[in-house]
Amino acid sequence: MSTVPERPVVGVLALQGDVREHLAALRAQGAAPVTVRRPEELAAVDGLVLPGGESTTIVRLATRFGLLEPLRAAVRDGLPVYGSCAGMILLADRVLDAPPDQETIGGLDVTVRRNAFGRQVDSFESELDMAGLGGGPVRAVFIRAPWVEKAGAGVEVLARVVGGPADGRIVAVRQGCLVATSFHPELTGDRRVHALFVEIVRGHLAEQAGAGAGDERG
Ligand code: GLN
Repeated sequence: MSTVPERPVVGVLALQGDVREHLAALRAQGAAPVTVRRPEELAAVDGLVLPGGESTTIVRLATRFGLLEPLRAAVRDGLPVYGSCAGMILLADRVLDAPPDQETIGGLDVTVRRNAFGRQVDSFESELDMAGLGGGPVRAVFIRAPWVEKAGAGVEVLARVVGGPADGRIVAVRQGCLVATSFHPELTGDRRVHALFVEIVRGHLAEQAGAGAGDERG
């Protein structure tokens, strides 16, 4: 019978972007973090983080490394994935203000607008309440960030901007095992979003182990 590993293996897509900070945050939350650059490495993880960076570059490199289709297949197969900033864009089914040929991994039923805050300011920080996280508001760092312009019916909105010109904009969402934030919790030392994601990975592993045990009995 399969058992749930004590330290789930969580990959960080390491083609471009702030990979190191995610590895550290995941390690601090009890996961065994690994970098993912090749399909074989992707096949060995229990969950995956898509870091911030530049989504057009990451997609171009993923295509060149033969990773785009394996990434799409992994999401289709239910792999837990957390996308931060550029990672949110990569998970989105639809992207606005993107080059016409920009592809995504997709899977998350949202429309995101790239560089959405950029019309006012490139970067800013804000406190916001995030559903499912105890312990008070999250300090959110936005860097040329996207927001979710439209979320499908099966998408849970976890956080919105409060106040300012972007008041009410959706900046954190969850759909099953997929989580995305416009902001960068890996940069603030607040590990609660990573903790939530590692919890989702553990839950998914436990579910799989349960299903496996059922198969064996049947
Ligand atoms: N503007 C970037 C993009 O479109 C995202 C910025 C970030 O990840 N900090 O990919």
